Amino acid sequence: MNEMTVEDWQAMLLAISKRIGAQAEGLNQLDSALGDGDHGRSVSAAFAAAVQSIESLDQPSMSGMWMMTARTLMNRMGGASGALFGTFFLKGAGLMKGKDRLAKADMNTVLQAGLAGVKGRGKAEIGDKTMVDALEPAVAAFCASDAYGAAWQKAARAARRGAESTAGMLARHGRAKFIGERARGHQDAGAVSIALMFEAIDAYWEGKANGET
Ligand code: ADP
Ligand code: MG
Repeated sequence: MNEMTVEDWQAMLLAISKRIGAQAEGLNQLDSALGDGDHGRSVSAAFAAAVQSIESLDQPSMSGMWMMTARTLMNRMGGASGALFGTFFLKGAGLMKGKDRLAKADMNTVLQAGLAGVKGRGKAEIGDKTMVDALEPAVAAFCASDAYGAAWQKAARAARRGAESTAGMLARHGRAKFIGERARGHQDAGAVSIALMFEAIDAYWEGKANGET
């Protein structure tokens, strides 16, 4: 049970899409305070499209699904976040070639590579008020636990704490950097999306552990 299968990823992506879809309006509002107000709309449409795109694959492999997810997110999300989410999945896809199940240690490598890709592309560090403030602590928390179930739970909590921490920050990247002090008091929309992603995955694994799926 301490491995991730193709079926798990299909269910996880659906769970992410549903959770982000349900919060799209809240994400738009966060992005309205700091940016152009489109984040919830674009991220929810892109994940819904990603769910459909992997359903259309003939014999889905793990890396094929991540590659398709990456491409769909890049094409459909657009903006800063489309490139960054896309890069995250693209880096992971490259590491999964030939594997139809991922052991926990493989997933550590995948998430670390995804994080490095996002930071390499966007040049944001912790404290800059971006998705990195949720993603980096989530990946660190995930890698610190050996079992998938516990790791996703700790990652989800770390991502949420990271997203909340962005409220006190000034932005150094993206559109929010232009609004200076007015950024304080608002959480970063991209960081909140990351928290929702990890929370959706955690809820899926918890359901699986309880025999609900
Ligand atoms: P856009 O800003 O193009 O409208 P979105 O609204 O979809 O794109 O996404 C904005 C989010 O992207 C921000 O909330 C932030 O988390 C993230 N972001 C923007 N620039 C960067 C960057 N250089 N590095 C990491 N994340 C970034
Ligand atoms: Mg925006």
